[in-house]
Amino acid sequence: MRKRILIISLLVTAAAIIIYSLVSTQLYYNLSIEDELRSLEVYAGMYDPDTYSADDAGAEAFSQKLGGARVTIMDSSGRVTGESDADDIETDHSGREEVREAMESGSGYAVRSSDTLSRDMMYYCTAVETDGGARIYVRVAEELQSSWSMYASLLPSLAAYLLIDILGCLVFTYIATYFILRPVESLTREAAGGGVVSTRYSELSTLADILNERNRNMEMQMRELEEDKKLVERAQDSKNQFISNITHEMNTPLTSIKGYAELLAAGGMTEQQKQLAYKTIEKQSERLTNLIACIINYNEIDDDTLPPYDVDMSKLAREMLSVVGPEAEKRKVLLIDRIDDNVIVQTRHELATQLLGNLIRNAIRYNREGGTVTVELNYKRLVVSDTGVGIAPENMDKVFSRFFTVDKSHSGKNGGFGLGLAVCRKICRRSGWRISVQSELGKGSAFTVDFGLR
Ligand code: ADP
Repeated sequence: MRKRILIISLLVTAAAIIIYSLVSTQLYYNLSIEDELRSLEVYAGMYDPDTYSADDAGAEAFSQKLGGARVTIMDSSGRVTGESDADDIETDHSGREEVREAMESGSGYAVRSSDTLSRDMMYYCTAVETDGGARIYVRVAEELQSSWSMYASLLPSLAAYLLIDILGCLVFTYIATYFILRPVESLTREAAGGGVVSTRYSELSTLADILNERNRNMEMQMRELEEDKKLVERAQDSKNQFISNITHEMNTPLTSIKGYAELLAAGGMTEQQKQLAYKTIEKQSERLTNLIACIINYNEIDDDTLPPYDVDMSKLAREMLSVVGPEAEKRKVLLIDRIDDNVIVQTRHELATQLLGNLIRNAIRYNREGGTVTVELNYKRLVVSDTGVGIAPENMDKVFSRFFTVDKSHSGKNGGFGLGLAVCRKICRRSGWRISVQSELGKGSAFTVDFGLR
């Protein structure tokens, strides 16, 4: 930046100095020509044909009177009759510009370069009437400094001015950039510190705004990154937890199967013991198969990207009540139908079936003999309530977590892995519904699915 300012200021000032010098020299040269012309006019006016003859001697005498100015005297045709400068041998001057003008209008002048470049000759010619009535021409000439030599004499001072200009520009550039850059530098330094910056220079307010905006954006991005990082960490934790839960759930049946298989292989078991071993192995294998099916189902809900459609929830709820009828009867639980007709919701058939099945089966299984399960359905919500064991306040939040079971020994539907309500929560999230529970230990629970309609 400093270099650029220096180059530009140098170019501008140097050009200004050179142009100014050339123009003023030219003006001075023009003035000196005018001065010279005026004095030549006076000189020529001093010629008196009675005093000075029209020959070389007269010309020389007049030249001496004029202090050495060159004098040429011509007859009416422009032929030289007298000449103070003996070197000039040309005799006919009628073609010369000043002589031609004098012949036409009485007087004329011309400036011509002399032999050397440094000097010009100025000629002034005037017509003079002699006493005899003849017309002669008197020309006086003097040397004057040529414009070229004026320019040449200007060169040393021009060089000096340019040198001063370079020094001036250097100092100016340094001071200018110092004063321009200092507030910019302090602004950027402040901005790098992360705070909100301000400036008293209105020209820099846009820069301050940009820096503040950039800082704000960076802060926002950092926050987003931080949140993303936390989400990733949470997802990783949850994944690890999930794997550890699965491993734990698999461990019990596998240990049991392995133990009985070893006992059978060792031999020496009674027939009764053998039958128990076979049954246990079969039961535990089934539990393992169930566990794997449940996990696959749980994960599939996330992967499923099929679109939702209108589902007749009333019809599905009634179907589910008739499916679980025998199980309720076995457990001596009464099913109560409070289902409104034509409740249509946006979901998928298999998801709605799972939701209803898990809630109603839980209500039967965690019930008491002679208890009731009420299924209430309207366009706003589904409520499955029971008069069963209830849930302790400290477990209320946990029941929707994966692999959470209050009583590990209990083997409910889904094999009692604690995935049923986690599946329900997932289905509700996908459909934009809200699932919640209200319960009192020993009195019963009510699971509510709010469809979000008012
Ligand atoms: P599972 O029933 O397979 O154990 P769930 O996810 O369906 O898994 O239920 C998690 C836990 O929540 C159950 O173990 C049980 O302790 C509790 N629970 C669920 N439904 C009810 C209910 N209606 N009454 C009392 N407790 C319930």
